[in-house]
Amino acid sequence: MSYICQECHETKYGCCNFTGEPNSIEIGISIPEAIIIQKAIGLPISDFLERDMINPLLVDSIARSIHPNFKQIFYKNIRYKLKTVDNKCIFLTDQGCQLPRNIRPHYCNLYPFWLMPDEDRLQVLINPDCLAQTRVINIVELLKLFGINRNDIINEFYALQDKLKEHVEFIDSGKDIIQ
Ligand code: SF4
Ligand code: SF4
Repeated sequence: MSYICQECHETKYGCCNFTGEPNSIEIGISIPEAIIIQKAIGLPISDFLERDMINPLLVDSIARSIHPNFKQIFYKNIRYKLKTVDNKCIFLTDQGCQLPRNIRPHYCNLYPFWLMPDEDRLQVLINPDCLAQTRVINIVELLKLFGINRNDIINEFYALQDKLKEHVEFIDSGKDIIQ
């Protein structure tokens, strides 16, 4: 976890906490990503993953205002999401995320960045509770604060896009991963 995120978790909101408030949208994880975590940690998927339904109007609104890939993330209005304990992600510990970065959900590695629809331009998912966003004035400084560059985000985003294709196919096949 970057020092700014560490500070955010200690003093402020921290995006691995889910308040349940209306503007706090728990993002979904794709099935292939969940399978990668499951293989790495060796626990049954139902120990860390749950499923619910999300309001289709909300899905439409996010897909329109941020990126169409939210239609795939919440395909058929189904949301697979990491379980929480006391409103915190099940993988969050006092030392930060217990998952190595290479098996974390892509949204964890992307946040607070996303790509613009149909372009390789970055956008920031505006969140007044994100400490990093309160410390800088533009996207270049924000990337610097996290110690990453534009290509890191683009590569992560395209890896997510690949997983989302598999996610949609998996759901269309009628299979499920949570018993
Ligand atoms: S998987 Fe890790 S980085 Fe992602 S929400 Fe959970 S604790 Fe945070
Ligand atoms: S990305 Fe922003 S909201 Fe999330 S922990 Fe870091 S500073 Fe806080």
